[in-house]
Formats: sequence, structure tokens, C-alpha cells
Amino acid sequence: MKKSMTLSYEVGSGLYLNITNKCPCSCTFCIRNNGDGAYGSDPLWLEHQPTAEEIVADLKKRDLDSYSEIVFCGYGEPTCELEILKKVSAYIRSVTDTVIRINTNGLSDLIHGRDTAAEFKGVCDVISISLNASTSEAYHAVTRPSFKGVDCFEAMLTFAKNVGRYVPEVMLTVVDIIGEEEIERSRRIAESIGVKLRVREYIAE
Ligand code: SF4
Repeated sequence: MKKSMTLSYEVGSGLYLNITNKCPCSCTFCIRNNGDGAYGSDPLWLEHQPTAEEIVADLKKRDLDSYSEIVFCGYGEPTCELEILKKVSAYIRSVTDTVIRINTNGLSDLIHGRDTAAEFKGVCDVISISLNASTSEAYHAVTRPSFKGVDCFEAMLTFAKNVGRYVPEVMLTVVDIIGEEEIERSRRIAESIGVKLRVREYIAE
């Protein structure tokens, strides 16, 4: 029997979308390395890459007005499937005004080999980009991206800066376990590119 896939799951008052397993990083803290589920949901590993139509069919079973926000997040990096993300977002926008957030590693430009910032116009209200660390060296040690010979930290910050021209709210995020000094340095980096820093609580799976 074909197993059903978890394309969306509730976290608190929000609805989280799981649109791909793909990701060019291998973060040391990633839930993919620490268990097969998140927040008590069903296992999030997708048996195959879902189409936008499959994801929309899943969303049609839900009352999208009832959530505080709808978040592209899940088990992989949502911008790896940018075209699917855009189509699903367009569907959401056609049926509800609920806030749409994208949680991303900010490496969309490297993933697609072009400047993608403008492509996020109208796609989301909020974009939350994982800063993870305050230096390129520390960032690479934590995220372990597959792009070789590229400063992924710089690429992520460039994307964060550029996407602010097209998305109403951009924030960089770090987890609280990095310590006060590192949080302060991260805050200064966020300020230097004109975006907010959000400090997230680290949740070990
Ligand atoms: S960017 Fe996100 S999905 Fe990718 S390895 Fe890091 S935490 Fe996991």
C-alpha cells in the first residue's frame, strides 16, 4: 500500500508546508540528522518530490483562513523547488489572506545560479533566513554547504539584502544556544543590511 506523505502539518496556530527533501546544506543541527519527524508530526521524509498540484490538493482539505500563518519549511530547503513554491503560494493567495512565511537557508541564488530575489515578489509576506553564525568560517562549519569554493555566507547575506526590496518583512535568525556575544555580533550583521534578527529557541529532537 502506498504510504501517505506529510505535505502539511500544524505547529501551534500555524500550518507548515513540507514541499521537498532537497537541500544543498548538511547543517550539524538539522532535524534530518536527528530523527525522522518534527514537532510530533508524521515522518516528514517525502517518498517522491510532490508536484504543486499534489500540495494544493492537500491544502484544499484545510481551512487556510483558520491559521495564523502558513510557513514553507519542512524537511528540506523550500527554495530548491522555487517553481513549486511559487505555484503553491499563488494558490494560497487566491483563497486566503493568511500571512505566508518562507523559512530558508538564503542560498536560493546559488541553488539556481542566478539572482532570484525579485522572484519572491508577491510570493510571501515574511522571509526568515538562517544566519546561523556571525562569521563565514563559523557559518560554513555549521551548515556544511555542498557549493565548493564559494563564500556561501556572503551569498546568503546578499540574498537577504536584495530580497528586502521585494518582500515586506525579512529577518535573519539564529538559535539561542550560540551565546550572548555571538547573538550580539549577529544582531550587528542584521542591522548592517537593514533587517531584523530573530533569536529562536533551540529545540533538540
Ligand atoms: S538548511 Fe535547513 S534543511 Fe538544509 S540541512 Fe540546514 S537545517 Fe537542514
